[in-house]
Amino acid sequence: METIVSNLVKDALALNTSRATIVEVAKIQFNEDLRKLCEQNSCGSYNKNWMCPPAVGSINDLRERFTEFKQGLLFQTVHLLEDSLDWEGMQEGKNKHTEIFREILEMMENNYNFNKILPFNAGPCTYCPKCFYLVGEKCRFPQKAVSSVEANGIDVMALVKECGIPYNNGKNTVSYVSLILFK
Ligand code: SF4
Repeated sequence: METIVSNLVKDALALNTSRATIVEVAKIQFNEDLRKLCEQNSCGSYNKNWMCPPAVGSINDLRERFTEFKQGLLFQTVHLLEDSLDWEGMQEGKNKHTEIFREILEMMENNYNFNKILPFNAGPCTYCPKCFYLVGEKCRFPQKAVSSVEANGIDVMALVKECGIPYNNGKNTVSYVSLILFK
């Protein structure tokens, strides 16, 4: 397993992440208050996506899924902005991060012999151009649907700190973090 995890970090770095590391699931802190940020619609996706609150379920129920895993791959991408109000640059950074996230997920599914993988991205599920939640239809691709670290109540700031990874990477940058549990 030691070689596998070291290869996994190398593979994640080779796919254009800025930082990648292995985290122990036991060290992940959950904070129910983070759900309040979702409820305040701070990212604009509340009640608009199957993988966001309230549809994704309660933090308590979601936490249950973590209990069967011991380790996860955590990675961060960092993107340059024109200035601190460059919303377009932030969106482009998020799209690029999600592209990298999907590549890493595919790499883990195809190149490693894990029994189970549980992925968490940054922000709402964007697998479909428009989530079918918005038209009152079931999720079309439940195998591809991914919820976010935030929606699951994961304290990302505490987690990256625990790993020695900076949460912010300096003036005029935006950083995104994802986590993929495996066993
Ligand atoms: S896979 Fe499509 S329908 Fe399902 S949650 Fe993601 S965006 Fe919505």
